[in-house]
Amino acid sequence: MAVILNPDKEMVKIVKEGLKRTGGYCPCRIARTEEFKCICKEFREQMADPNFEGFCHCKLYYKSKEN
Ligand code: SF4
Repeated sequence: MAVILNPDKEMVKIVKEGLKRTGGYCPCRIARTEEFKCICKEFREQMADPNFEGFCHCKLYYKSKEN
């Protein structure tokens, strides 16, 4: 498994600006709870899931199954 930043630099810039604004909470979600601190619980679970391949909710990260 490998996790990389989205190759779309503009998208990365937007999400990172959002993270700065929220103090590290997922900018794509309204709740400011521990579960949504980047890297959020959802994406941590997706990283641990051998069958998951794809972007995190905000599209900041991409996880592939292959190295
Ligand atoms: S991993 Fe992605 S979806 Fe999760 S908080 Fe960070 S930017 Fe948002």
